[in-house]
Amino acid sequence: MRVEVDQERCVGSGMCALTDPVVFDQDETDGTVLLLEPSPTGAHAKAAREAEHLCPAGAIRVVG
Ligand code: SF4
Repeated sequence: MRVEVDQERCVGSGMCALTDPVVFDQDETDGTVLLLEPSPTGAHAKAAREAEHLCPAGAIRVVG
């Protein structure tokens, strides 16, 4: 599976980084999402799918 993030849509709520800080982080200046691990496996893959559903801006897409 592959994770994609859209920094244009991101509103910096931080749900993704709270859900899995191995896969997602937030920019120190504006809080927008940073993708640390674009191809997570195991528990991190599951967490990435959770983050996709939790993101209030629809800025996370999990493919595959
Ligand atoms: S949960 Fe969505 S809106 Fe919030 S920081 Fe992550 S990508 Fe951005």
